Amino acid sequence: MANEVCFRNMDLDQPWLLEQYKSRGGYEVLTKILTEKMTQDEVIELVKESGLRGRGGAGFPAGLKWSFINRNSEASRYVVCNSDEGEPGTFKDRDILRYNPHQLIEGMIICGFAIDAAAGYNYIRGEFWEPYLRFEAALEEARAAGLLGEDILGSGFNYDVHVHLGAGAYVCGEESALLESIEGKKGQPRFKPPFPAHYGLYGGPTVINNTETLSSVPVLLKNGGDWFKGLGVENSAGTKLFAVSGAVKNPGVFEVPMGIPFSELLELAGGMKDGKKLKAVIPGGCSAPVIPADEIMELNMDYDSIAKAGSMLGSGAVVVIDDSVCMVKLLERMSYFYHEESCGQCTPCREGTGWLYRIVSRIERGEGRQEDLDLLTSVGKNIAGRTVCALGDAAVMPVNGMLKHFRDEFQYHIDNKKCLADS
Ligand code: SF4
Repeated sequence: MANEVCFRNMDLDQPWLLEQYKSRGGYEVLTKILTEKMTQDEVIELVKESGLRGRGGAGFPAGLKWSFINRNSEASRYVVCNSDEGEPGTFKDRDILRYNPHQLIEGMIICGFAIDAAAGYNYIRGEFWEPYLRFEAALEEARAAGLLGEDILGSGFNYDVHVHLGAGAYVCGEESALLESIEGKKGQPRFKPPFPAHYGLYGGPTVINNTETLSSVPVLLKNGGDWFKGLGVENSAGTKLFAVSGAVKNPGVFEVPMGIPFSELLELAGGMKDGKKLKAVIPGGCSAPVIPADEIMELNMDYDSIAKAGSMLGSGAVVVIDDSVCMVKLLERMSYFYHEESCGQCTPCREGTGWLYRIVSRIERGEGRQEDLDLLTSVGKNIAGRTVCALGDAAVMPVNGMLKHFRDEFQYHIDNKKCLADS
């Protein structure tokens, strides 16, 4: 049951070409919607029924998000696709842009129809140059075929998709910072509410969905909500792209049913590299709290199972850590990342992420103080929930996860002024 949704055309020679996409029934769902005059409410209801949840990290139900849009608003409505994946460990969306761009375009047009949007924007991470070129080429093909632009397929629906390349700021993956960036402003998150569904791009009601989410739409509409649900487990419908990296033999992106046991996913990635032992896993990008080996080997990869273990599925970026890795060093790297990427707008994040980094760093250098572990917890408490966007929380969660499961390792660094691995 792998490669059923976003990677379903991966066996084709050049799956990014319109002709090849069409050979697998591409754009048939859009044609059906526009020519058989399905209503916007019908489309939204079908997406709702499928149980599709956002694949960018938050897991919010996609159909519900679409249903929030006021189609009678005076302001124009927009669809925004978030292809700015920048969480360390995440590398799945670029493969959709690269290998299956038409499915994303079809999903964006269907969403545009459902909310009566004036236009769609795909915000692509600036470093994804080759995927960007593929996506632009696919847009040109779609325009030439009358699938974008004026009067799509003779339906009277006018809609086009534009690309906005990011400039490398992690925080622009946050939806409201992303909107600011498209509008040509500094990419800093907005205060919420109002949420983008009410006041989004250029002040209009806006649906922002992740690349994988929008790409799933044509396939689930074609095969039906029950089929999509049946691919996964309760509360986690469909398949999921997992980007597996770290200490595995074959790192890569795997499309598998939601709820797959972690042990099977590890096998798909070739198992542990160099005969090393599994120490822990970060299951959903580096902001997701770490889960130790004995726990993760018993877990299934779905939203609820990972949440029950105190972590989160996030965007599906699975970082596999072997027993040679120093958790203090690893946390230092992650803390540095969040400190560097803080946009500086709010004090708890701007200053607090610096504190986290400096404390972990001195522990790593062998200069840690006995009070440092409690200090880390205290600083974290003064960041989490006190910031404009979730980057503050994202910086705190890995710290708390490490202290919960690997506190002894941190204490060893403080007591012995060296790493346990060097002993
Ligand atoms: Fe900027 Fe951090 Fe505040 Fe988010 S939490 S708005 S990244 S300073």
